[in-house]
Amino acid sequence: MYRLTSFILIIIFCGLSSQSKAVHTDPSVNFQTMSEDINKAPWPNYQSLLSYQQSNSTLPHKRHLKLLLLKAQAENLLYFYDDFEQTVKNASKIVTTKTPTELTSLLHFYNGLIKQREGSYTKAIVFFETAMAQAKQSNLNQTYFLAKQELAYTKSLTDSFQASLIEIQDAYTQALALEDTFLLAMIDETYGAIYGYMGKYEQSIHYYQQALAGYQKIAYPPYEAEAIFGIASTYRYWKRYDLAIANFELYINKISYTPNKDITFYGNYGLAMTLAEKGSCTQALPIINNALTLGGQSDYNAELFKRKAMCFIQLKQYSQAKSALSKAKAIFEKMPELAGTRWQLETLKIASELAYATEDYASAYQLATEYYQKQSNKLTDSSTERLTTLRTTYEIERRDSKIELLEQQAKLQSLQAAQQKQNFSYQGYLLILSVVLVLIILVAFILQRRYTNKVIAISIRDSLSGLFNRRYIFRLFEKQIQSLSNNKGSLSIFILDIDDFKNINDRYGHPFGDQVIRIVSEICQSKLRLEDAVGRIGGEEFLCLLPRIDSKAGLAIAERMSEHIAKHEFTDSRGETFFVTVSIGISTTSPETRSTTDLFLQADKALYYSKKHGKNRITFFNDIP
Ligand code: GH3
Ligand code: MG
Ligand code: MG
Repeated sequence: MYRLTSFILIIIFCGLSSQSKAVHTDPSVNFQTMSEDINKAPWPNYQSLLSYQQSNSTLPHKRHLKLLLLKAQAENLLYFYDDFEQTVKNASKIVTTKTPTELTSLLHFYNGLIKQREGSYTKAIVFFETAMAQAKQSNLNQTYFLAKQELAYTKSLTDSFQASLIEIQDAYTQALALEDTFLLAMIDETYGAIYGYMGKYEQSIHYYQQALAGYQKIAYPPYEAEAIFGIASTYRYWKRYDLAIANFELYINKISYTPNKDITFYGNYGLAMTLAEKGSCTQALPIINNALTLGGQSDYNAELFKRKAMCFIQLKQYSQAKSALSKAKAIFEKMPELAGTRWQLETLKIASELAYATEDYASAYQLATEYYQKQSNKLTDSSTERLTTLRTTYEIERRDSKIELLEQQAKLQSLQAAQQKQNFSYQGYLLILSVVLVLIILVAFILQRRYTNKVIAISIRDSLSGLFNRRYIFRLFEKQIQSLSNNKGSLSIFILDIDDFKNINDRYGHPFGDQVIRIVSEICQSKLRLEDAVGRIGGEEFLCLLPRIDSKAGLAIAERMSEHIAKHEFTDSRGETFFVTVSIGISTTSPETRSTTDLFLQADKALYYSKKHGKNRITFFNDIP
């Protein structure tokens, strides 16, 4: 990007064109040779100009203007930019409508250089075009194509390679005809710069070397330094870092012709950028920081900040990278002319790389897409140019592969997020499933339990009366007998049989007989304690087990039961009422009688006794005479 101004020749021609009118002579300042003397040794000649100016406070208008222009020339070569701008301003102030165009065209040219340096490229182009028009009017061929050459260079700064190449080609043809070594060297230098921007590094080096040879021939150290800087820069862009570093060092050596320390900025700038690009960030960072303190042009500083950001990304110091990048962005925001140029667009690319490094793949992808989109739009705008088309293809390929990579990473990230989400929902499903399974098992268990209970109930209950069935009441009877500890505890039993039941069946029907059995069963159950048990052991015959009940208490229970049954009024389907009675035989365990068989036989005998002696009565086995 660096390019020293090349306006000196114009001064030579101005000097030459005005020689016929030159009336003043000065032993220390020869206006005819001064311009060339300045090119060969800017510093001593500048001193002479200053002392001449002091001793000649009032000069004729035209000579005053020429003096200012020579001063500006020296200041420019010595990198006294502030003084240069002031001198150009002063010169512009004394310009009138009568000032010859050979001088005004030169002033326009200077103003163009100032604007170019400020980054106001559109304004610079206007100044150069005006300078060209005026030079053409006055037949100042060299002024004309020098302006044209700067115009080409300015256009190349805004990436208009095609336009700039046409401009420079034109200037070159005319310079060849003039056979001027200096002019041709300057054009070569411009070629070197433009080819450098185009990425045609071999050509760039070739033209710069030619320019350097030209400058060496006429011994113009500032221009030699300039060409060396160009060579170093191209090697830098070519990624031939060691050659670049060697040339930057050579350049720093060469610029010792000026006492201005500000110029070391460019040497430091080149060295810092090269080291950073070479990947030697630890070496580069102190030089970048040093360069940033040297007050270089703001667009150069933007480049330094960008490189600083990239170095910090490399060193994984992301917050430092972020702050360096935002400084670069701030500079570009203040230079709208650079919006959309590769210099400015590169901030997007670096932002993308920073996002990528901090694993924000979505932003990285978005920024890279934006960068490559703008980049390819810019490139295809001038797609008529073959080289640019090639470059576009290359850039697009690179873009596609990079975007693809980022896209994949962004996808991967969202997939991972989705996967995690799915895992969570799987876990949710699993939980629900487990709960459902547990519920099913529970329900199944309850149903099974109920079924088992039912089965058990069916297996132990008599279906007609709901009392224990014969098999179960005898099992219970067996258990209770077994649980009685030797000679201790007692168990009373009684057998209950409905009297003359056959008659009931005969008279009211079998179904109603069933109803009577049910009601008698209910009364029996209701008159017993919780620990007692009753079972139906025959058609209308019941066995009651009364644990820990002696004969006396057993008798009382039997009487209560018998009375209740006898009191119950039965009504048949026709409304006829009747009563039933029962006969009961009781027995109680004793030391001699401790088996179910014996006890049951005793109760049965007692029942038989009751039946035999008139029914509706209770007999205790021991009472049988
Ligand atoms: P007793 O006073 O001597 O006991 O005379 P009884 O008529 O009651 O004689 P027994 O006990 O010998 O007769 C039982 C009768 O009960 C015989 C049978 O017809 C009837 N029976 C047996 N099982 C059932 C039954 O499930 N339902 C009905 N309705 N009758 C039954
Ligand atoms: Mg019977
Ligand atoms: Mg009977």
